Amino acid sequence: MTAPLLQVTGLVKRFGGLTATDHVTLDVVPGEIHALIGPNGAGKSTLINQLCGELAPDEGRIAIDGADVTALSAPERARMGLARTFQVTCLLDEETVLWNVAMALDVGRGHSFRFWRDIRRDEGLTAEARRALAGTGLEGRAGVTVSELSHGERKQLELVTALAQQPRLLLLDEPMAGLGHVESQAMIGMLAGLKSRCGMLLVEHDMDAVFALADRVSVLVYGRIIATDLPGAIRENPAVREAYLGE
Ligand code: ADP
Ligand code: MG
Repeated sequence: MTAPLLQVTGLVKRFGGLTATDHVTLDVVPGEIHALIGPNGAGKSTLINQLCGELAPDEGRIAIDGADVTALSAPERARMGLARTFQVTCLLDEETVLWNVAMALDVGRGHSFRFWRDIRRDEGLTAEARRALAGTGLEGRAGVTVSELSHGERKQLELVTALAQQPRLLLLDEPMAGLGHVESQAMIGMLAGLKSRCGMLLVEHDMDAVFALADRVSVLVYGRIIATDLPGAIRENPAVREAYLGE
């Protein structure tokens, strides 16, 4: 049996008296979208922050492709194929779309920050950034400053920059947040098309998106996973309906 892309075992994170993640165990296998749902404050972002290496767990273990990464830094985990997006987008607002993608490609290769004038001279890199934008719906926006993008375009661009690193495992923190119907559909289409390229842990409140995309769903309530199952079974699970779906 091949090891899962991501295996999380018994992850605990405490903030003072609050246990934000309470012995969380879950996995993501190749080609899978595993959705993580749960009410506000359940510990979803805290879990993502521990997985990508921004926050050290108090207990538990995180493995990528069977290798224990619990003690590794965020850049070391990124080099092993892990990428993330944020609940609030993380882009350089005063720079162009193309520049943001080129930077992500450059940083993904382990280069440190370079100025735009240096990147612009790197024709190979800018050509590659254009290729990364092709087919995303943002190709016509390459020269636009990020601050002029719509919210939906920002979310899409953030995904493109995360993908520039060619991750095998993508952690998505509420990619649908604040998107209108048309933008949500575009994002769902983009994520569905990525499944064969990388496994995903999808934190999301938009249940239409979750049920359209997820292969499995885990439900986090007060830091604990109360169920992991196929989407259809989650929808029918009485404990889930009571705790989360508000019935
Ligand atoms: P979710 O993403 O599911 O809405 P979070 O992971 O953001 O939940 O938060 C889980 C709980 O941990 C919340 O009660 C939140 O207030 C608390 N929390 C999150 N980050 C910190 C922090 N850095 N310090 C103290 N408490 C925190
Ligand atoms: Mg959150």
